[in-house]
Amino acid sequence: MGYVKVAYRDIFRQLDYHSNLPTGWDEFVNKQAKYQNLIIKSSKNKCHCTNCSYDFISNKKVNEEVKCPNCHNKYLIKRSNLRYYDFKDYLSILNIVNNTFVIRYFELKTIIDAEHRSHSSAVEFAREILTKNWYREIFVNERVSKCLCHIYIYHNNGFYINDKKWREYTRSYSLIDYSIVFPNNLKKLFKNTEYKYSCIWDIAKHSTYIDLPKLLKNNSDYAAINRIERLAKMKLYNLALQANQFSCSGTFQEIFGVSKDYYPFMKRNNITYTQLQILRLLKEKDMKKIRYLENFVSYVGSTYDLEEIAEYISLNRFIRYSKMHHRNVKTYLYKDYLRFAKLLGFDLKNNRYAFPKNLEEEHDKLEKQFEIQNELIIQKAIIRRNKELSINKFHDKKFIILPAPTLKSLQDESKQQKNCVRTYAEKYANGKCDIYFMRDVKKPKHSLVTVEVKNNKIVQSRIKCNNSPSEKQLEFLNKWEQNVLRKVA
Ligand SMILES: [Zn+2]
Repeated sequence: MGYVKVAYRDIFRQLDYHSNLPTGWDEFVNKQAKYQNLIIKSSKNKCHCTNCSYDFISNKKVNEEVKCPNCHNKYLIKRSNLRYYDFKDYLSILNIVNNTFVIRYFELKTIIDAEHRSHSSAVEFAREILTKNWYREIFVNERVSKCLCHIYIYHNNGFYINDKKWREYTRSYSLIDYSIVFPNNLKKLFKNTEYKYSCIWDIAKHSTYIDLPKLLKNNSDYAAINRIERLAKMKLYNLALQANQFSCSGTFQEIFGVSKDYYPFMKRNNITYTQLQILRLLKEKDMKKIRYLENFVSYVGSTYDLEEIAEYISLNRFIRYSKMHHRNVKTYLYKDYLRFAKLLGFDLKNNRYAFPKNLEEEHDKLEKQFEIQNELIIQKAIIRRNKELSINKFHDKKFIILPAPTLKSLQDESKQQKNCVRTYAEKYANGKCDIYFMRDVKKPKHSLVTVEVKNNKIVQSRIKCNNSPSEKQLEFLNKWEQNVLRKVA
């Protein structure tokens, strides 16, 4: 355990031998340390900045942020009885030794003491060798505690700490995911490598926390580096960190899921991937609202709850509801509540139904109703949908198309066609998709083509056993889509 390969030991030795950090490193560390400060608030709204020691008056509350009028930095406000507070951030710097990429990691720590003075220090505690393997090769020195329960990094320079003695980091959980990357040396380092056009140096300059090994590892193929480069050149640096989410080609709308008029807004705010996902749903150039909605996203990309809510009510109305409840809306309950309410035929345009006073109680009530008689509820909802969609009925001399009229008709269609359309009953009932049956005018009871429509567009059409329709049948469907569905839109 903890063994370090000879080749790596040689790399580490060379790093220690030429241990000078490049010019600009100290400024970089000091700049990050500046963020690790507080505003201390005492009686009569008196505020003290731990960064520049300036005193001023502000009526902002404890745990809110305020801008110091002297150093112009924004800091969190804490009460003056504070005895101790610390900030920790990981900083990193990339190196090349023996043609191998090595990342050195430092912990930057600032302690605010009982006298409200701040003390910062940055110490190296880990090194990572970049390989093409899926697992990470991380080594730590004696600054990293051996205690099994949590990671602690010693900053004092006691004689018993040897920070040149490296061991392999072997615990099952990740030691470092994100770090603030030193940007100044990157362009030069990448000069003769596959990353020479990647613009990763610009990304490092404009994004705070970066998973550098992931950025470099996942992108060892040309297409991926190309994607990163394209996003960085568009100055969408935070999106470049999630470059694998975007395709290489297509229109702006196809790549980003929003129209090109949003580009200046996206660039100006250097939006993240999560923020883009919210923008797609909100369709408003409003950073304040986007940041508010971000509170309901627990990790990158998990905007599913918001997506589902947006299918029933606008996100602006959701914000209004959430503010009424001081942001304590459990979205996983709310989306189900809305689904039940819609199925039960409540008018969600009416705030009385869309904004339940006690969400948990109302959710449970509707869930119970739904469980007891879900077939009946779905049946009723399908009859309502059939009525709504009847305006899209269409026929020519040969074929006719009509919305699925009942739950039973869906089950029957499934049986005749040997497909799974019956499992669409709930989606159809609550309006997430439209189901139509296309039939021969002469044999209207006999299944022919099952059609799924979303936003007035045919998304699926299937004959028996999930096969595709004939040319003649497709021609009819096409005519129907153009003349009837699109006209409605
Ligand atoms: Zn200040």
